[in-house]
This record gives sequence, structure tokens and C-alpha cells, in this order.
Amino acid sequence: MQPLQFAEPASPPAEPLDIPRRSLAGATRRELASALAEIDVPEREIRMRAAQLWHWIYHRGASSFDPMLNVSKHLRARLGERFTLARPEVAAEQISRDGTRKWLIRLAPKDGESRGAEVECVYIPDVDRGTLCVSSQVGCTLTCSFCHTGTQKFVRNLTSQEIISQLIIAREQLGDFPCQAPPEGAPVLSDGSRLISNIVFMGMGEPLYNYESVREALAVMADGDGLSVSKRRITVSTAGVTPRMEELGRETGAMLAISLHAVRDELRDRLVPLNKKYPIKDLLQACRTYPGASNARRITFEYVMLKGINDSPAEARELVRLLKGVPAKINLIPFNPWPGAPYECSDWPTIERFSDIVFNAGYASPVRTPRGRDILAACGQLKSETEKLRARALLSVDP
Ligand code: SAH
Repeated sequence: MQPLQFAEPASPPAEPLDIPRRSLAGATRRELASALAEIDVPEREIRMRAAQLWHWIYHRGASSFDPMLNVSKHLRARLGERFTLARPEVAAEQISRDGTRKWLIRLAPKDGESRGAEVECVYIPDVDRGTLCVSSQVGCTLTCSFCHTGTQKFVRNLTSQEIISQLIIAREQLGDFPCQAPPEGAPVLSDGSRLISNIVFMGMGEPLYNYESVREALAVMADGDGLSVSKRRITVSTAGVTPRMEELGRETGAMLAISLHAVRDELRDRLVPLNKKYPIKDLLQACRTYPGASNARRITFEYVMLKGINDSPAEARELVRLLKGVPAKINLIPFNPWPGAPYECSDWPTIERFSDIVFNAGYASPVRTPRGRDILAACGQLKSETEKLRARALLSVDP
């Protein structure tokens, strides 16, 4: 098909030079359409042009307008004057002995920020899947007592563009866009499938406290003409913001995970202070009515194993009782220690005993193998290394 051409104006309109160019990597369809309108693409062409950009950005992984040969040269030049496809900077990459990769991502500074905020994003390769763990906020407001991210102060919500950029960066780092040659040292799956098959919102932050951006990001990530991650393989984990759960299920169709960690309010109040606002009973009620939950699409209950705190057989039995009537699976997470943490991980026989009780009651109860602990990439360890690295960098400066 012949690409549509613009009538070329005699001389391109002069642009004020002081407008900083804006990146469209991670933009939603609506944002792409308004970018095109800004550079005076006629209304009747916008849909088609937005679809072209979409394909290049999200399906092919283009990082500039240059390769977009089905877009007229004139339009490419206009796009390039005002926009870029720059990604946030990968400030550091660490690769664990087990193949887990953690990227420290430096975002472009937002209005009023003297420097870009940083978030972490983790890729966890497995035999039958590759999971990308993304962040939804810089820092977190929840102060869960066992979570290292919770000890760092909340900075701000991520925009949908910044959330989506984490997937773009990961695909690029792994050579996981279909038309891209994998960079040296990148892992390859033997069946040739995508390296990133699953996404979990289990990085820094509480996704349901940044719901609008998470919803928009999810739609872009799941779009079949672009990044194409199946909704059934996208899981949003929440500490239990019950008023938002129904909306999440109805509007996004994402899978749900609940950070439960305790079976009594008195203990959960201490571990997950949000419980004081939304106690266990309300949380489980919201789970019973979560749109789309079924035996084929179960809700995951995450339960961190803390020595002598929440790991007794009585608590395992109570957990089973509580989850009656909820299509659930239970994910036991060995506690990942961090410097100064007031807890220890339960010992292995205790975890096994707990897991057996849950399993014998008919629940799948896989124990989550800690991944990437050596690079502090495991659950609840994010962001910490960032500060350490910085401290180390400061120490290594010659006096
Ligand atoms: N705020 C959301 C998303 C974060 S998910 C939520 O709470 O669900 C991160 C998961 O790791 C949560 O289940 C969290 O409870 C768990 N986690 C946090 N710190 C941990 C630690 N030190 N060891 C193991 N799991 C931890």
C-alpha cells in the first residue's frame, strides 16, 4: 500500500527552539492522538497515524522515528521536532547468580524535581515463563513493618507512561521485541516465545493508590496490536485497598493478588497498617465479589513467613478457614531479610508444615523460591540497594 502523503508546505513552519521535546515512548492511544493533533495532523488522519506509531513503538520497539518508513518523511520530521521516543535511563543493571535481573531506572525529572526519581524493575526468568515485576510508585505510603520499601519515604506516583516504560526498557534490554536482535548475553527461550510472558505489579508502591495510571498502563501492556501481554498473565498485587478492587476487576480484567500475611486483625494491623482501615473481613468480602474470579482464575494470597510471628500450624488452619468460598491459591513467601529488619525468616520445617496444612485442605500452596536475593531484587528488598550503591559511590570518590 502506498503511504499517504501530506501536502508539503512550501517551507516548514518555524518552531520556537526553546520547547523541550517530549517522549512518546509509553504513551497511551489518546496521548498519541493528541500529540499528532499538536503538530497539525488533520483530524481525519489521526486514527491511522496513531495506529502506525503504535505499531512501531509497541510492536516493533522503535526508539526513534527514523525507521518508520510507512510514515511520510515530512511527518517524521515534524514528529522529530517536537517529540522523541527516548526511554528513561537505565542507571544500573545487576544480574543475579540465578539469572534474575534488576534495573535501576532513572526517570526524567518532573516539574519541580531537581533530579529524576528512581525506581526498580526486576526480571525473573523461569523454566516456563518470564516475569517482569514493575513498580507503580516511587517509594510507598503503606509502611508495612516487614517490607524494606515501606521504610523509604513516598516520593510520588508514577505516570502510566513511566509504568509502561519499564516494560519497554525490559524488552529492549532482553532483546524481546520481535524485530530486534537480542543483545549479547541475553537469555533465550528454547521454544522461541517471548521472554517476558507475565507481569506482576509487585515492585515498589501500592498500585491501587495509583489506580488511574495503573489502569491505563495495563490497557497498553495488554493491547494485542502492541506489547500483547495477555491480561490473564498480568497480576496486580494489593495490600488491600478494598474500595478499588471491584473497579480493578471490572475495568481491567487483571488477575488479583492480596498481601494477606496474617489471619488476625490484631497481628495484621501491625504487619500491614492499612488493615486498620480495611480489616480482614472487609478484604475477604471484596475478594468474594472480585469480578472475574473463578476456579480457573483464582486470587493469589501472599503470605510472608515470619519466624514465630505468623507461622504456627493454628494459623495455617485459620487461613484455610478464612478462605472458604474464595477461589484462592496461596503463595507462601519466605521472608527476605534486609539490614535492620525486625523479623527473621521461618525455618524450613516450619514452612513445610504450614504448607502441608494448606495443601491438605485442597489449596495449591507453592512456596515462592526467593529469587535474586544476592542483588536485593527479591520481594520487599527493592530500592534499598539504590541507596547503598549511592553510599558506595560516595565512599569511592577520591578525597
Ligand atoms: N503494595 C502492594 C505491592 C507490593 S507487592 C502489595 O502490598 O501487595 C510486594 C510483595 O512482597 C507483597 O506481597 C509484600 O507483602 C511482599 N514483601 C514485602 N517485603 C517482603 C520481604 N521482606 N520478604 C518477603 N516478601 C515481602
